[in-house]
Amino acid sequence: MKNHEKKDLGKTSDEKKLKIMCVCAKCPTYVNCKELAFCLETVGKSKCIKDPKGCLCPSCPVESLMGFKHAYYCTKGSEKELISKK
Ligand code: SF4
Ligand code: SF4
Repeated sequence: MKNHEKKDLGKTSDEKKLKIMCVCAKCPTYVNCKELAFCLETVGKSKCIKDPKGCLCPSCPVESLMGFKHAYYCTKGSEKELISKK
């Protein structure tokens, strides 16, 4: 039980680091609903971004670090969702 809790904590701090690296806030499509890093499985589609106006994901360090291949995660869903749709 304790080990499991530790694992979850590790995941949370990794997610925090990735959210700090996320460049969505500088993107013309971004609407601030206190969400970031839509590419992550734990985040996915935005609840408030509906109007795509360009995407900075291809230049984001998270994209290259995680080996993600897509874009517009805020309106299309997480990398995992996009892969499973293919
Ligand atoms: S996922 Fe892409 S389109 Fe959406 S806010 Fe982030 S950089 Fe912009
Ligand atoms: S790849 Fe896009 S959604 Fe993911 S962290 Fe970077 S800018 Fe944000």
